[in-house]
Amino acid sequence: MSEPFRDPGPSNPDDADWTWVLTRPCPDCGFDAAATDTADVPAILRDAGERYAAALRRDDVRTRPAQGVWSTLEYACHVRDVCDVMTGRLDQVLAGGGEVVRFANWDQDATAQEKQYWRSDPEAIEREVTGAFETAATAYGRPSGAQWEWPALRSNGSPFTARTLALYFVHDIRHHLWDVNA
Ligand SMILES: [Zn+2]
Repeated sequence: MSEPFRDPGPSNPDDADWTWVLTRPCPDCGFDAAATDTADVPAILRDAGERYAAALRRDDVRTRPAQGVWSTLEYACHVRDVCDVMTGRLDQVLAGGGEVVRFANWDQDATAQEKQYWRSDPEAIEREVTGAFETAATAYGRPSGAQWEWPALRSNGSPFTARTLALYFVHDIRHHLWDVNA
């Protein structure tokens, strides 16, 4: 491990609008929202949590594969925070009782910079990732029936429901498993 505490700089910002993954399969990671049942979401999340935990034990966990591309450690920090944000958003939808709720903007690239993901301790992140996925899996096991269609708006105006939020979330964490070959 060479110079683990040298700031690698920001990653290339992800400005893409990924909502298209709700309507067609992802050519990269293979996720197909149409073929995914919300009842399976908790199990998918727990499986992903285990795979990230295993990836965090790799020797090259801090290595960036290319300039501007997160290391496995940085991706793991990101998905931990994605779990927290998406758990909070689902709680918000359920608390809304079927009224449209509005999600606050979350700037994932600013968060990565502020929290200095690259400096993290892999063992600590493994514990945090495991906890965050377990909490998210429990939360996404909670909605039933019509609650899955309760509405929300993202800060940029994209409409969501609890169901599409779950599918968008699952794609995100599956896509990053593909990013880190886990
Ligand atoms: Zn994908």
